[in-house]
Amino acid sequence: MSKRVVAFLVLVLVLVFIVPNTRALYEGVFFYLRDVLTYDARAIVPVNPAGRYASLYDLVSLNNAERLAYLQRWLDARALRVTSIPILNSSQRNLFVSFDSAAPYIVFAAHYDKLYDDAAYQGASDNTAAVSVLLAAIDALSSRGDTSARAFLFTGEEETGLRGAHAFVAYARANALPIRAIIVFDNLGRGELAVRPSAEQVGWVFTLPFVGDFAYDGRAFNPSAPYLPANARVVRDLKRAYPNLVVYERFTARGDSNAFLAEGLDSVMVSGDNLYYLQLTWHTYADRIELLDERNLDRALELILKVR
Ligand SMILES: [Zn+2]
Repeated sequence: MSKRVVAFLVLVLVLVFIVPNTRALYEGVFFYLRDVLTYDARAIVPVNPAGRYASLYDLVSLNNAERLAYLQRWLDARALRVTSIPILNSSQRNLFVSFDSAAPYIVFAAHYDKLYDDAAYQGASDNTAAVSVLLAAIDALSSRGDTSARAFLFTGEEETGLRGAHAFVAYARANALPIRAIIVFDNLGRGELAVRPSAEQVGWVFTLPFVGDFAYDGRAFNPSAPYLPANARVVRDLKRAYPNLVVYERFTARGDSNAFLAEGLDSVMVSGDNLYYLQLTWHTYADRIELLDERNLDRALELILKVR
């Protein structure tokens, strides 16, 4: 092959594959490979069992019914205004904590159910950590007397088709609840905080020219339908509160935010940004408390306390 032919083929390859994938390659190479190459399971600050996230140590060993009862007890003990919202065909319920407010609420949400309802599966990152962060935030805001325009939502039945999130929307509509945004925390655990766009297919999304988009979730390649970037207004609010927030465009997630967005509410999903850690632990029995880094939980708490 002559040099000119090789040069031409390289140019075609660049134009056809690399150009539509510049953002995907940037996120895939700089974020994902960075996480793969630097991953050290023990390079963490362990969650303090006597600290502000002590509830984590209680919650990880509980099944879903016990988790709901635990949250109910915890909130009742603080005399908070809690609405228990039923979920169709389920014994799980959503718990909605609200404060007096004239302004529309920013709702901070986390699902408390775990995928495998047995004691051996902790679901530490998915999604016990976020539940404990929300509890810590409620305590911190209450003690400051600064609860204005905030609400907290603990959803059930997320892992069975986002049914708790849909039940909450029905409740919010029926009660004309003013909602400014719903910030969903899911898969905290390590690294920085990241917003990931909500999509049907979870993973790293790249484009094959003339074929379509595919999402790679670390285990399989799946065709990926078009999706919207994360809500720009909410991202702006979050970045103002927490400037280090990473905003992914080509690493998608699926969770309660998908349901809220489908129902026309402004919502974003916030997770940890260490994609390799999430890939190693997500929906596996390796998702354990000893792999969580307390600093990531602190970042989520800081975001909640500062966002306006
Ligand atoms: Zn989850």
